[in-house]
Amino acid sequence: MIDHVHLLSGGLDSAISAYKYASASDRLVALSVQLNSDKKKSGSFELKFAESICEELSIRHHVLDISAVSQLISLIGNPRVTMGFGGQINNCGDDPMNASGSAEWYGRVPLSVELLHMVGGLVAIAENATKLVWSLHRDDFTPAFGREETLRYKEKFEELVSFTTGRSVVLETPFLDFFKSDILRMGADLGFPFDRTWSCSNGSLERHCGECRQCVKRKIAFQQAGISDPTEYTSVGISVGLAA
Ligand SMILES: [Zn+2]
Repeated sequence: MIDHVHLLSGGLDSAISAYKYASASDRLVALSVQLNSDKKKSGSFELKFAESICEELSIRHHVLDISAVSQLISLIGNPRVTMGFGGQINNCGDDPMNASGSAEWYGRVPLSVELLHMVGGLVAIAENATKLVWSLHRDDFTPAFGREETLRYKEKFEELVSFTTGRSVVLETPFLDFFKSDILRMGADLGFPFDRTWSCSNGSLERHCGECRQCVKRKIAFQQAGISDPTEYTSVGISVGLAA
């Protein structure tokens, strides 16, 4: 019997969270979505890391291909919007400067988080699970979407699922009061294999670029946590204004 469906992107936050849940219960399955039909593109490459984590934890791993949705992105009118794999609200565009300092806008595909959670809700119902785990954390908040808005969103999601299906699926957000660096410390306590995660959005198959927004956030979190970063970066410096 399964209790939890855990959203798993292949990045640090969701993988450490899955580790934590798996250490407490074996009633866990993971869910990843494939956002690009091209497996070399960001949003798909992380899948192999998600698979690796599931193998290590000996948990089942659902992978749903929703790459057709990416065709809709062109309808939004901004070719530079990104679809956060884990529903990262930090891609909403709170900071128009990207990691290299140029003025590239990181938008969020409207309803992408909601889509991910509806897919998760469907899997939860199929598995007879009552909880869906989303590893959103404090560094993901934006001025427009912070803790309070997340709690309101969570309530509305749960209401909608209950209203339309008659089933209860709780959207669990265990990291809502934690920063990414806190999560890394939890991972270190669990003996988590940090090198078996992927953050880079630049599409390099060999190693993290070290310069994109996601890489910079990864580097900074390790520094803030005081944990040695095992990631191999193409560029080792932090060249951005995201460090503040
Ligand atoms: Zn990168």
